[in-house]
Amino acid sequence: MEVPTEEKLTVSRGEWVISERAIGQRVYQGARPRRAMQAESTGDIWVIVDHTGDEVEDIALELLGQARELADRLGLSVVAVILSDDVGGLPPLLGQYGADTVYLAESPLLGAYHPDAHTPLLADLIRREQPSIVLWGATDQGRDLAPRVAARLGTGLASNCSRVDLSENGLLVMTRPVYGGKASCNVVCPQARPQMATLQPGAVPAKRLDPSRQAQVIAVDVSLSAQSLRLRLEEVIKIPPSDLDVTEAEIIVAGGRGAGSAEGFHLVEQLAHLMGAAVAASRPAVDAGWASYERQVGLSGKTVAPRLYIACGISGVNHHVVGMRDSRAVVAIDRDPQAPIFQIADLKIVGDLHEVLPSLIERLRRLRQERGTAEDEEVLQTLANVPGARQVS
Ligand SMILES: Cc1cc2nc3c(=O)[nH]c(=O)nc-3n(C[C@H](O)[C@H](O)[C@H](O)COP(=O)(O)OP(=O)(O)OC[C@H]3O[C@@H](n4cnc5c(N)ncnc54)[C@H](O)[C@@H]3O)c2cc1C
Repeated sequence: MEVPTEEKLTVSRGEWVISERAIGQRVYQGARPRRAMQAESTGDIWVIVDHTGDEVEDIALELLGQARELADRLGLSVVAVILSDDVGGLPPLLGQYGADTVYLAESPLLGAYHPDAHTPLLADLIRREQPSIVLWGATDQGRDLAPRVAARLGTGLASNCSRVDLSENGLLVMTRPVYGGKASCNVVCPQARPQMATLQPGAVPAKRLDPSRQAQVIAVDVSLSAQSLRLRLEEVIKIPPSDLDVTEAEIIVAGGRGAGSAEGFHLVEQLAHLMGAAVAASRPAVDAGWASYERQVGLSGKTVAPRLYIACGISGVNHHVVGMRDSRAVVAIDRDPQAPIFQIADLKIVGDLHEVLPSLIERLRRLRQERGTAEDEEVLQTLANVPGARQVS
């Protein structure tokens, strides 16, 4: 296919607008172009629900709250879409979190994520119902599925957004990080429909609107045959949380130069293991060989936005902070009360991590033995009771 020479990005009124042409250029090279739905679509706002069995992922509930807010401003309805082999009691919950309607596609072939099944099903449903906005979680599944569906529909996709809002004329403004998180840009999709974005988990809080709220449930026809699926799922292998990719983790315990040695860093790993958290590191800890490069957070490492980020012996230099500043709650442990990390911490613990971490590990072990598991609140309470801890906000 001939590649157009037109510039990929055009700048309009201070916003970066990815032109239709540029989207076509990127999406369609080597693929089959299809006719895009056009901007007249005034359909609803959809959330594609990420779930494991009958457990909804937090991101889906967060997206529903966001969709509800946008829908109320635009006078539209919110539709939650679930693809599953057995959804159990999910639809009522989705109604309580903001959905007006739940589209339910059920088939034994939709038990696990399968691109050959999920992509055509969603693309056909969107083409038929013409939503104006579709929101996805920037999860493993969302990151794989959303671009496939966008390509089929000939529309754009802003990936890994930290926020979405509306412009004065009702367009979805999708804010995403650029230049390794040093800047962010606003992307709009002025022509093709639907406007689509994947949002980082934890970017917006979930809001349970009303426990008595109910959504209308509509069953979607599913015509899939096992023969049409080119891949076969053999086995699902669960990765221990401490080995999770840091970008996927809900809780991260990170260690820096302050750990002092591989043995010191082992305390960070022990705490992470106990909390079901992923281990991360600052660059000096990676350079010292205490953690692998894939665990590095920051400008030249990964960008994370967990529910809880515990920084141990990390000073909080901007090169590190750009990679974790979107964390929902930050706990910092450092012996220097002036360490810059404390400026962004919700809970500061001033002390030597070689004393703080063993005492914390011991308290958490006791809590686990007594209760089986510990809720976030209890863990934070335990952290707050460590000598030297001071709540900032
Ligand atoms: C182009 C470029 C890219 C970079 N990319 C990254 C990146 O991706 N990620 C990254 O992290 N850095 C990156 N850096 C490096 C960055 O500038 C900092 O040097 C680094 O983040 C500092 O790491 P640190 O906080 O672990 O170490 P330090 O800044 O040395 O801080 C160590 C902290 O530990 C505390 N401490 C010491 N001993 C103890 C103890 N016993 N108990 C408790 N606290 C203790 C100290 O008070 C201090 O606050 C980059 C630098 C450049 C130039």
